[in-house]
Amino acid sequence: MKDEYDVIVIGAGPAGSTAAKFAAEKAEVLLVDKHREIGTPKMCGEGLTRDAFRDLNIPFDRRFINRDIYGIVLYAPGGSKVEVKYDEILGHIIERKIFDKFLAAEASRNGAKVLADAYASLIIKDKKIIGVKIRHQGEEKEIKAKIVIAADGIGSQIARQAGIDTTLNPGDLHSCFEYEMSGIEIENSEMTHIFVGKKLAPGGYAWIFPKDDDRANVGLGVSGVEKKTAKYYLDQFIKSKPGLMKGSILEINAGAVPIGGFLQELVKDNLMVVGDAARQVDPANAGGIHYGMLAGKLAGITAGKAIGSGDLNILKEYEIEWRSSIGKHQEKLLKIRCFIDKLEDEDMNYLARVWNGDDVVKITTGKHGIALKKIIKHPKLLKLLKKFV
Ligand SMILES: Cc1cc2nc3c(=O)[nH]c(=O)nc-3n(C[C@H](O)[C@H](O)[C@H](O)COP(=O)(O)OP(=O)(O)OC[C@H]3O[C@@H](n4cnc5c(N)ncnc54)[C@H](O)[C@@H]3O)c2cc1C
Repeated sequence: MKDEYDVIVIGAGPAGSTAAKFAAEKAEVLLVDKHREIGTPKMCGEGLTRDAFRDLNIPFDRRFINRDIYGIVLYAPGGSKVEVKYDEILGHIIERKIFDKFLAAEASRNGAKVLADAYASLIIKDKKIIGVKIRHQGEEKEIKAKIVIAADGIGSQIARQAGIDTTLNPGDLHSCFEYEMSGIEIENSEMTHIFVGKKLAPGGYAWIFPKDDDRANVGLGVSGVEKKTAKYYLDQFIKSKPGLMKGSILEINAGAVPIGGFLQELVKDNLMVVGDAARQVDPANAGGIHYGMLAGKLAGITAGKAIGSGDLNILKEYEIEWRSSIGKHQEKLLKIRCFIDKLEDEDMNYLARVWNGDDVVKITTGKHGIALKKIIKHPKLLKLLKKFV
């Protein structure tokens, strides 16, 4: 390892590894992660849309694709369900432990140096970030960097250390608990299953993401303001389902997801923030892998450009570009989430009934928008919508 790099990326999750991969096309890059094994622990439901693979040019590789998913079954509190099924593959349940390692290996293939078991903190002199201090295998080392990319996840200390306001309201947080379970009954293992309801998962939802015909990530997220824990609600949920009760627990994960929109400041001097650290998470479904990788790509390309031109002012382009593209989309989804948060259980039951008529609806690719329009034109639903806007 050298004493100086153009770019140091802190955190080898999907956002950091993608940033390192793209930055390495134009710059000398070091990617560090505090964990001894990149990708572990997984802390994830492991759902990822096919679009994410396409957007990031990731191969559909069976080493990290566990299962193909054709749609979603949504369970309203009263028991009715809405099934949105596609004729083609909508997404995948991945193996995060292998996927994250693959992304880090891609970064190294592009020329980045990758280092696991390396805890990093900023070195700031005269109010300027001049590099990173790394604790690796019991030894400390100082490494200079022209640019630092903070991709250190939801608990990000790096952005705060750089003076960025990272205050997070508990209400803008999904607190999650998840078991990987085997020997369970899954009604349809080619679909993801989402359960909503104020009593079941206040401010969040429960999920069953199948990894096999009888194995799945079974998890639940609740609003950060809830007094009872996500584990409490998850255990109640499992108790209510005999098909889950009979299963075994292979893995336990707990974590949180920031769902309140992205940080006001994504770039400060020579520091860029990406992924969960920047709160670049889809607020509607609390998924962060896709957004994190898109942000990582944008930040990595911008960092490479800045190094190539010798002008660090270019880094601001990352923030401008995020705000005007994916960030806009994120803001729209945030409004939808706020709308959903205000729904009572009876509203959700009503929506499910309107959507369904009497039976399960099958929506094929491309017609999704039409079905939504039909619902939005429904006079009673319009009244309901007006209550919230
Ligand atoms: C229970 C649960 C289920 C989820 N399910 C899904 C899902 O199904 N689909 C989806 O898209 N998203 C899901 N998410 C969200 C998703 O996991 C995150 O959005 C995603 O991992 C964010 O990627 P990231 O690279 O920004 O951060 P992370 O993946 O958190 O990576 C950050 C990395 O930084 C490292 N790090 C932290 N501090 C330091 C330091 N000081 N020095 C060195 N390294 C450091 C950490 O070790 C870690 O590897 C889920 C989250 C939870 C908690």
